[in-house]
Amino acid sequence: MKIKRYKRVNKYLQFFRTNYGFHAPYQVLIDGTFCQRALKNKVNIKEQLPKYMGDEVKMFTTVCVINETQNIGRSVYGAFLIVKQFDVRKCGHAKNPLKAAECIRSMVGEENADHYIVATSDLILTQQLRKIPGCPLMYLKMNTLNLEPPSKASVEGGHEIKRKQVGSDEVEIERLKELKKEILGPQETDIRKKKRKGPKGPNPLSCKKKKKKAEVNQKPDDKAKEDEEKRRRKRNRKKLSKNGKIVQKVIDSLSLEKSQES
Ligand SMILES: [Zn+2]
Repeated sequence: MKIKRYKRVNKYLQFFRTNYGFHAPYQVLIDGTFCQRALKNKVNIKEQLPKYMGDEVKMFTTVCVINETQNIGRSVYGAFLIVKQFDVRKCGHAKNPLKAAECIRSMVGEENADHYIVATSDLILTQQLRKIPGCPLMYLKMNTLNLEPPSKASVEGGHEIKRKQVGSDEVEIERLKELKKEILGPQETDIRKKKRKGPKGPNPLSCKKKKKKAEVNQKPDDKAKEDEEKRRRKRNRKKLSKNGKIVQKVIDSLSLEKSQES
């Protein structure tokens, strides 16, 4: 089996496990149309189904399905031989058998409480079961078994279940808090507030470096004065060097004159 196909079925099963409480051994409810197609495409259901699901599988059918397949006659005799191999799940219609599709619909009911995975090639039945939240459907495409992606109803139903679970959890937590207050008294519960470990204040590693104390403590006036002083000294240094150059020039010119005179 291709890895992609295996991953896909796993994902879908995971969805039904999480949202609708499905679990192994999975219960697959099989009808005559599925057996007929399997026969046509040479698929051995009993052998292939557990391999595809990657887990333990129980395969069922109903009296109504067997009856209908048998009554159709010779054209589906092969399918009849296959379908009657599976365990028969009591459907309650033994005395007054229903049409196979009706029987399966009644087995699934409004919410598929027994966690059936329905394996069928009946398109009308498939469409009807897609409307039931939490009803996985299995079909045959050529010679491969496939689990349908969760239907819209299943997805929406799953969200609803999660919302309810979350809601009930919150209510439960609130109730426990109330109970704690009742037993311990309000002060006790306050004292038990989380204690912070380590020194107070923000993490020093995540903070900017502090400015030097001297700079911080200096008054703005003092700082301005100091800056002015620095600028003055710089100016003087420049002036001095400039003056020095002028003096040197004068000395040079004087010495030149002297040498000319002599
Ligand atoms: Zn039945």
